[in-house]
Amino acid sequence: MKKQIAILGSTGSIGTQALQVIEEHSDRYEAYVLTANNRVEELIEQARKFKPEAVVIANEAKYNQLKEALADLPIKVYAGEEALCQIVTDENIDMVLTAMVGYAGLKPTMNAIRAKKAIALANKETLVVAGELINELAQQFGTPILPVDSEHSAVFQCLAGEIGNPIDKVILTASGGPFRTYTLEQLATVTKAQALKHPNWDMGAKITIDSASMMNKGFEVIEAKWLFGVRPDQIEVVVHPQSIIHSMVQFEDSSIKAQLGLPDMRLPIQYAFSYPDRLHASFPRLDFKTCTQLTFEQPDTKRFRNLALAYEALDKGGNMPCIINAANEVVVSAFLNDRISFLGMSDVIEKCMQQVSFIEKPTYEDYVATDKLTRIMANELI
Ligand code: NDP
Ligand code: MG
Repeated sequence: MKKQIAILGSTGSIGTQALQVIEEHSDRYEAYVLTANNRVEELIEQARKFKPEAVVIANEAKYNQLKEALADLPIKVYAGEEALCQIVTDENIDMVLTAMVGYAGLKPTMNAIRAKKAIALANKETLVVAGELINELAQQFGTPILPVDSEHSAVFQCLAGEIGNPIDKVILTASGGPFRTYTLEQLATVTKAQALKHPNWDMGAKITIDSASMMNKGFEVIEAKWLFGVRPDQIEVVVHPQSIIHSMVQFEDSSIKAQLGLPDMRLPIQYAFSYPDRLHASFPRLDFKTCTQLTFEQPDTKRFRNLALAYEALDKGGNMPCIINAANEVVVSAFLNDRISFLGMSDVIEKCMQQVSFIEKPTYEDYVATDKLTRIMANELI
């Protein structure tokens, strides 16, 4: 029986690489559902090639185009947010890969957890916004959550065979992004074109900006707390510009385990699909004849304030990580539209954290309201 996989966000960076993994291991995996937001041409092409049971386009205005283009195939076609939330509960789905961007991933992920579909989690924003709620749901329904984010996949791989051995520290590596060596004066004038050029990874626009501002690493600290049950003071970030060590775990006896490889998201995607097995991979491998230097630096939270803000949100808890996520989504989109400067992004985020009402024990409805309110405030501040 092949594993039936629903890919939420199949036209994106993670989604297309997931399809490469499925293609390479077509004896084990099948794309059961493919979904996109706007890129309908790409979705049509994928559907014709992978012949899923169903496709969903979030933007309803694109429904007719999608439906007509697939009329000769027995593929079910749906549109809209609600359809996206419903499709993940289909009884034939074994695993849901959450590879869409941002807060929009929260509701479909919650539904998939309730329907007991194993989650391959790329959409880190879901855990940033509502990590506690997601963990409670996963526990209640006995649904496994497998990390796809390369750092968390690395930690997960380091933890294999360590059941019962307490973690001393999780050490997340960060490339430092394209502005690692920039001064504050230089950061004040960087453009979106510069920010979109990540030195080691080719990713979607939003996470590429998050990487340049180090909000991505801040989010990964929050993600690590919920995935591995560690306290904030047990999560350390170290800048490692080569992106060869994907992260590390230190145990009580001081031993540190690391996971290494070339920066290639197909490995963590494939490991989430195949866990606990490892499968052959045909992509390029790390070769120490050409990799001669691994270096490390401390992150600088004076130049990259977002990292400090994320730790602050994590310490505060409640709806604060939801506030930081919503404010960040608004400012990143504004930065991509030339409406705010690179450093201005942190100013707006910090103000939202100070001004949006704090809720210590948020319900799902509180998260929805917090997200909405924060977006209004962030837009006003911009
Ligand atoms: P992309 O922007 O490349 O792709 C996003 C995908 O989600 C696209 O298929 C897009 O559709 C779809 N989508 C976007 N917004 C919505 C929405 N509101 N409703 C429904 N579908 C939507 O992003 P990435 O692949 O880079 O990232 C996806 C997630 O994975 C993010 O949470 C990111 O943080 C995380 N991640 C990514 C990594 C990477 O290497 N790219 C590494 C680690 C984590 P369309 O194409 O039509 O716009
Ligand atoms: Mg990552």
